[in-house]
Amino acid sequence: MSNHDVIPLRAFADNYIWTLRDGRRAAVVDPGDARPVIDYLRAEKLELAAILNTHHHADHVGGNAALLASWNVPVYGPHDDRIREVTHRLRDGERFTLPHFGIEFEVMEIPGHTRSHIAFHGAGMLFCGDTLFAVGCGRLFEGTPRQMHDSLSRLMKLPDGTRVYCGHEYTLSNIRFAKAADPANAALRELEAKAAKLRDQDLPTLPSTIGQERSTNPFVRCLEPAVIATASKFAGKQLADPVSVLAAIREWKNGF
Ligand SMILES: [Zn+2]
Repeated sequence: MSNHDVIPLRAFADNYIWTLRDGRRAAVVDPGDARPVIDYLRAEKLELAAILNTHHHADHVGGNAALLASWNVPVYGPHDDRIREVTHRLRDGERFTLPHFGIEFEVMEIPGHTRSHIAFHGAGMLFCGDTLFAVGCGRLFEGTPRQMHDSLSRLMKLPDGTRVYCGHEYTLSNIRFAKAADPANAALRELEAKAAKLRDQDLPTLPSTIGQERSTNPFVRCLEPAVIATASKFAGKQLADPVSVLAAIREWKNGF
């Protein structure tokens, strides 16, 4: 499936509802709002084939019920009763084939932002909700810095070319913080110019790639001396391990 066939439908201020499509059907990831999905499917004369949910937050699942009222489709999601509509609850390492599209996805449990957050990985794509963002990571609402560090580390083991479809358009504001946390990083400056140009044209900066995150995202670069140095300065003491570095820059960013 080429990037061309994965459409970002906008919802709320900065959410993306990633929509896989071909000529007849569509599958949606994290439909926080049904309206943009219904409008798009009607305009393009598509039928819904499936819903995928990464985590229970309303801006990711709020449209499930309204979509299911029109289309009786499977809903793939985590073991978490807070998402009532899920028909296929999935654990780490489980695989399923997306109906109609024939794409096999592997589920990865990636706690940190929430305790039951999952990602869908398949066909060179990663749908990672609010855990990994371009140049950032989600807030630790239900998880610990160690969980987030372990989850991000697992994602970084995927191939460099894996396309990363995140839940929000946060790239430019994340870059502003990353320049403070990782000040000498030339890849960040390059990405900033590219992302600013896209946003000027009102275009998404996503998908990112695993390779791009490895070179620009301070939350996956907690072993880099430059990031350790700025995190230690923020913490007021020398930090020695990547989990403490992640904890420090996450706290720093919350108030940035
Ligand atoms: Zn969330």
